[in-house]
Amino acid sequence: MDPFRPRLILFDIDGTLLKGGPRLRYWFGESLATVYGQAGDIDGHSFSGKTDPQIVTELMSGAGVPEDQILELLPDVKEVYLRRLREELTVADMELLPDVVSVLTRLGEAPDVTLGLLTGNWERGARSKLSCFDLNRFFPFGAFGDDQADRTHLPPVALQRASRASSRRFTPRETLIVGDSLLDVACARAHGMRVAAVATGYTPQEELQATGADWVLTDLGEASRIHPVFGS
Ligand SMILES: [Mg+2]
Repeated sequence: MDPFRPRLILFDIDGTLLKGGPRLRYWFGESLATVYGQAGDIDGHSFSGKTDPQIVTELMSGAGVPEDQILELLPDVKEVYLRRLREELTVADMELLPDVVSVLTRLGEAPDVTLGLLTGNWERGARSKLSCFDLNRFFPFGAFGDDQADRTHLPPVALQRASRASSRRFTPRETLIVGDSLLDVACARAHGMRVAAVATGYTPQEELQATGADWVLTDLGEASRIHPVFGS
């Protein structure tokens, strides 16, 4: 592989930087029940790598709610859920994953490296989660579930925001996506971006390896394998 120095690094949140405890899924289900009168198969459903609006749509169409009704009420679910997070979420609901702060600190200090988010969370939910560990300071911009329900469409949004935030243009070839799911790998691949998959989420390392991700890491502590800019 050619020597790769990432100029723009886009981080997923859940399973990559932190993990949410059971109350988060409970609140998601409770918001669905408040708005649609049911939560569908919330306990059996995989959230991994999906956007918040996608999860709502999948669960409610699985429960037989007509598509026009799902879309009409989506903003209401978003409001109920995000209010819950804002009012109730505490650090006790979250787990910070290994070496996240040291890696982000090092990258934040590296010249010519720009950090952003690429996450399926609605932005205010993302900010609530990150604020539990004071991580918002590393991410002035990002692409979120508010922007697109299909994660595959988020990388161009992130590139645009990165350019606007830093007054320089970024290309897909100098961009690295860091995420924990098959969908993180797929969305990077769809745009010719490098991708590092971390096995700290909900997808086994062997499955991540089978995707052909450029790097598969046990956790972010191994990130120096990508480039010395990540430190060791
Ligand atoms: Mg994730």
